[in-house]
Amino acid sequence: MSIRWRLTAWYSGILISTLFVFSIAVYGFVHWYTYDELESKILQQYNKINTRLVASADGSLGVAPDQFSKQRMEDADFYVQIYTFYTQLTWRSDNMKLRGLKFEVPEPNFAKASKDVGFKKFNVGGYPFLVYQGFVTKELTNEVVGWIQVGTYTGTAENTLNRLRSILISGSLATLIIASTLGLFLARKSMKPIQKVADAANQIQKGTDLSVRIEYDGPQDEIGRLIGTFNGMMERTEGFYKELEDAYAAQRRFVSDASHELRTPLTTIRGNVDLLQKIWTAPPEERPDLDEETLREMSVEAIGDISDEAKRMSRLVSDMLSLARADTGQTFEKDPIALQPLIEEVTRRANFLPRTAEWHVGDLRSLNGVYVVGNRDYLQQMLFIFIENGFKYTPEGEVRLDVILYKGQVGIRFSDTGIGMEKDEIPHIFERFYRADQSRGITEGTGLGLSIAKWIIDAHDGSVEVVTKRGEGSTFIVWLPVIFAPPLE
Ligand code: ADP
Repeated sequence: MSIRWRLTAWYSGILISTLFVFSIAVYGFVHWYTYDELESKILQQYNKINTRLVASADGSLGVAPDQFSKQRMEDADFYVQIYTFYTQLTWRSDNMKLRGLKFEVPEPNFAKASKDVGFKKFNVGGYPFLVYQGFVTKELTNEVVGWIQVGTYTGTAENTLNRLRSILISGSLATLIIASTLGLFLARKSMKPIQKVADAANQIQKGTDLSVRIEYDGPQDEIGRLIGTFNGMMERTEGFYKELEDAYAAQRRFVSDASHELRTPLTTIRGNVDLLQKIWTAPPEERPDLDEETLREMSVEAIGDISDEAKRMSRLVSDMLSLARADTGQTFEKDPIALQPLIEEVTRRANFLPRTAEWHVGDLRSLNGVYVVGNRDYLQQMLFIFIENGFKYTPEGEVRLDVILYKGQVGIRFSDTGIGMEKDEIPHIFERFYRADQSRGITEGTGLGLSIAKWIIDAHDGSVEVVTKRGEGSTFIVWLPVIFAPPLE
């Protein structure tokens, strides 16, 4: 049974019980009040009459002919019947005679009759009467002489009560039907958004569409908040899922690029090893028909190739390891590091790197007293990546390093007058294994250097800027937050 039906059943049940109790109370009260009034009137009349009984000429007991009170009594529709036991005669009031009414009298058995003393309902000829009846006794001796009955017609009161009962029953039923229908309608209306939540959840469970959102423009009540929470949850889940998917795609690209990159040196190594095998271990008829000296030269060349490729591979593997470590979220220890000595040391060692361009270092004195929170080894690695790139991509001209201090940050600027890059290549250079088209084949490289540099910069809460033009050179500025303000000069 759905919630809306259950809700409707519950409040219909409560409503019908309330209406039932209310109707019974109203009916009971009106019934009691009507009969109570009738009974007290009859009793009043009975007491009055009982004191005015006289014997008639025929030997029956009757009411004294007090015309005024008789008239009043009959106008008020009181019916009086007196039965005299010893003459067995019955006296009736004129209105009874006129309408031919007769009340039943008890047998002349006093024990039995005394049980009938009090109010009794009679049905005479299909008409209901309420009668008070009792014995007539002689005043002095208390001897029972007759039986007096004073009654009134109760049909009108009964009709009113019946009508009231029908009104209460039909009113209750109508209220119940209207309230239940409206209740069901309201329950359905208020459950509709919940149904939407369930449908959306179901859709997600069945498919993989995480972009499902529930449209709701109602008030921010419980349901509004539930929908808000659901949509928020979906938004976050979608975000996480997308991140995960991106990470997975990056991982796959990384693995496929890595295997591709590793295959090239391996192929070269295998080719050279095959050549060496052919030269030195193959049967004489299969050996190249060359003199010993040439064979020796060829072998040395092959060994040189193997050595170069092995170096390249180990460089690649160590770069990949750095990035794999970065991917696992591994961080490194950081301490306050004086920047000036660190950069001086790097620029000094850079002199020994292979290069064809000139190498200039700007004035580093402004770094006196400038500290950054970082890791010495990783910062050095990052600096070398930019300097080596400058050397690699500047066949002639100059490569320069200088520093800028600006708004609590230190900028380390690497500028060269080398080959530069196209504008649309800039967004990709920090991607793994990305190498600008013109760099491929011309210069050695893995395409991992800038990815590693970017990771190190991010881990130091820094940023990097690139300005470059094809054929004119490139400038990279690495910004790092400074912890101590430089001393005022
Ligand atoms: P690698 O240098 O091993 O190819 P990097 O990740 O260090 O890999 O650089 C990615 C690409 O960015 C390079 O292949 C090159 O095309 C371009 N690049 C990097 N630095 C420079 C530079 N100073 N001048 C011109 N191009 C550069």
